[in-house]
Amino acid sequence: MIKSPYRILTYFLLLLLVAIGTGWLIDDIAWMLTVTLLCWSSYHLVMLVLTLRWMSSKKADPPDLPGIWGDLVYTFYRKQKSHRDREAALTSIINRYQQSSAALKDAVVIVNTQDRLEWWNSAAEELLGLKPLIDRSKSILNLLRDPRFIRYYKRRQYQEPLELTSPISDQITLQYSITLFGEGDRLLVARDISRMKQLEQVRQSFVSNASHELRTPLTVMRGYLETFLDQELPKPIMRGLQQMEQQTHRMEGLVRDMLMLSRLESTRHVTDEYPVDIHQLLKDIKRDALILSGDKGHQIELTLDLVHDLVGQDNELHSAFSNLVFNAVRYTPAGTRIIIRWQVTNSEGIVSVEDNGQGIESHHIPRLTERFYRIDESRSTESGGTGLGLSIVKHVVIRHGGQLKIHSRVGQGSSFTCHFPKDHVIRLENHPSPPHND
Ligand code: ADP
Repeated sequence: MIKSPYRILTYFLLLLLVAIGTGWLIDDIAWMLTVTLLCWSSYHLVMLVLTLRWMSSKKADPPDLPGIWGDLVYTFYRKQKSHRDREAALTSIINRYQQSSAALKDAVVIVNTQDRLEWWNSAAEELLGLKPLIDRSKSILNLLRDPRFIRYYKRRQYQEPLELTSPISDQITLQYSITLFGEGDRLLVARDISRMKQLEQVRQSFVSNASHELRTPLTVMRGYLETFLDQELPKPIMRGLQQMEQQTHRMEGLVRDMLMLSRLESTRHVTDEYPVDIHQLLKDIKRDALILSGDKGHQIELTLDLVHDLVGQDNELHSAFSNLVFNAVRYTPAGTRIIIRWQVTNSEGIVSVEDNGQGIESHHIPRLTERFYRIDESRSTESGGTGLGLSIVKHVVIRHGGQLKIHSRVGQGSSFTCHFPKDHVIRLENHPSPPHND
């Protein structure tokens, strides 16, 4: 460190005083001052040259200079050394970070606010086909061109990951997730989930094959049972046969729902979409629900938006909405009011089924859409439930880009709401015969 920056001023003033004193003694102050200043400047000029020469040379050790120049050079040397040490530490951190991210099996890509690629690891080259140097600063949207990725990327809501096949091979399934950071930069991580997908497919095809295989024996058994039940048989045998028929019926329902679920799970999105005539579909469901209710006298109301239709797959949507309405009939007491609604807001289309039945305790609600989850096992079985109904509803709604929301209060009733995005809603510009609210 420079010991005292003012020391040099003191020396200079002392030197001037000595020069003036000596000049006065020899009777020529001006000459003496000139000589002194010339010597002083020459000395510092030499020191400056030595300092500059060391600074521009590659020599690490500083020259051994006297006085303030020694302090100056040493201070500079220390600062330079600590700067170099810091630089080395930072470089080692960056190297370690790059090594660790290169060792990652997941593709990691950093995209800037202009959607251009800034950095990626080597897994990104293998999984996404990014080319080192060539693709730097290119727009990610030009490199990953799948419209579903582009939609996901632009939506800027990344709570849910996106599954897509890799741009370089159909055999690789990737799960993309994006995190926003800084001022709108994005960190994209793509994970290879091909193995998991394969196992999932094996499981799905097992369930689907097993369900298929069960169908034929069940049909045969039911055929025989129906024939036996038409006969005059002793009462205990009759009771046994009736129970067997009920259970066969239940198993058929299970097989049907399991097949439906495994079909829904086999693809993530609906491919054959068209306007479904939601008005007629809900009217048919209401009619069937009234038959199911029978003497229980449920009051079922239908409230319809008359100018919009829902776009989707009508079999799936029929199955989902009928599950909700039939549940409302099965799990509420006689005379309960049930409202089926189709409404369209600025941002979505909504189908809801609301009842003022006994409601569901809050701790059951998050688990209702799990497979085979039932609140009251015996009641559900008695009413012909398979425990797969709400799971089917959830899958159908998700396949249509939507979301199922469940609200319920004990003693007040429940509402099951299917929210569909606006791109699944169309306006019935020239509907031939507008349906009417029932
Ligand atoms: P299940 O095929 O047994 O009906 P679901 O998945 O359709 O199975 O429903 C799960 C459970 O949710 C049912 O067992 C039932 O207890 C409960 N539930 C569904 N809808 C209603 C409703 N509207 N009111 C009260 N409970 C309901």
